[in-house]
Amino acid sequence: MPVEQRLCSYSAVLMGSPIVLKLAEPDERLAGDVFRLIRQQENLFTVNRAGSQVMSINEAAGKHPVAVSAPVFALIERAREVSVLPGSCFNFAIGPLVKRWKIGFKGDSVPPAHELQALLALTDPARVELDAQQRTVFLPLAGMEIDLGAIAKGYIADVVKTFLRQRGCFCGLINLGGNLQTLDAPAGEASWAIGLQKPFGEPGALVGTIAVSNKSLVTSGVYERYFELNGQRYHHILNPQTGYPLDNELLGVTVISDSSLDGDIFTTLLYGLGVEKGLAFLADYPQIEAIFVTRAQQVVLATQQPFRLLDETYYVTDSIA
Ligand code: ADP
Ligand code: MG
Repeated sequence: MPVEQRLCSYSAVLMGSPIVLKLAEPDERLAGDVFRLIRQQENLFTVNRAGSQVMSINEAAGKHPVAVSAPVFALIERAREVSVLPGSCFNFAIGPLVKRWKIGFKGDSVPPAHELQALLALTDPARVELDAQQRTVFLPLAGMEIDLGAIAKGYIADVVKTFLRQRGCFCGLINLGGNLQTLDAPAGEASWAIGLQKPFGEPGALVGTIAVSNKSLVTSGVYERYFELNGQRYHHILNPQTGYPLDNELLGVTVISDSSLDGDIFTTLLYGLGVEKGLAFLADYPQIEAIFVTRAQQVVLATQQPFRLLDETYYVTDSIA
């Protein structure tokens, strides 16, 4: 029997994404516990539902600091650190712009330039005040909003991986819609063959597959969430400098790493850098590997993991032509 059919697959829709858990043995109880854990984690970070810790911080903008739990504080601390790196395209204070664009949600539209300009003034990550002693977060200006949408799934994927291992489960994978964490491959297999989605292709159409185990794979692409207006495509990763969607030669970036949180952070950073600068940047991070898919149908490999090309309209290279 093919490997895929020997595995037990459990699915649910959480955080607006289809979530798939694969286990070597049937275990309804474990699957139920995993989905409960994901829902509970999501409730801490969402910016779309009252009662989350992140929502409380945003609601207190311009008023007072808000105390949060240790894991939420740690994630915000990391997000701030990455956001203030010189030239970083990652910005966890980008909330006001994300909310205004509503990309991929009902009512999305291109905001007038003067509005974006005004909102940019509310997105300076360096202005977010953290107090490690009190474990508080303070947004000093009314209208400031933090948005952990780019990293919450990565963080949660790591939590799920730890949880599965604690429960004695060492073979399986969790796919949180773009964020995938793999444990050991099924018995008799050296690795998982993970499909790399074809940008703007039919559902299930793949550029190729990558062989991994005990690794996270995070993909972010301009084809995931976007809207079109007057022949122009507007996707969901914004350039914190301009307030408009990031625009370069990339269609997608996949990051392969141990931690899915790292994967999430690096997909956004690499997106902002583009292929050439991205490759140079990666030289300083040997533990992070990546695959870039470009508009020119290139699959640029900066990874040791075996990649198999399936779509002949693309070609594999290790640098940009
Ligand atoms: P997904 O996996 O859901 O496609 P990504 O990990 O690609 O999401 O992150 C995109 C989300 O991150 C956006 O929907 C928005 O909430 C937030 N975001 C958009 N631009 C930025 C940015 N420059 N820095 C940090 N977060 C961003
Ligand atoms: Mg991400």
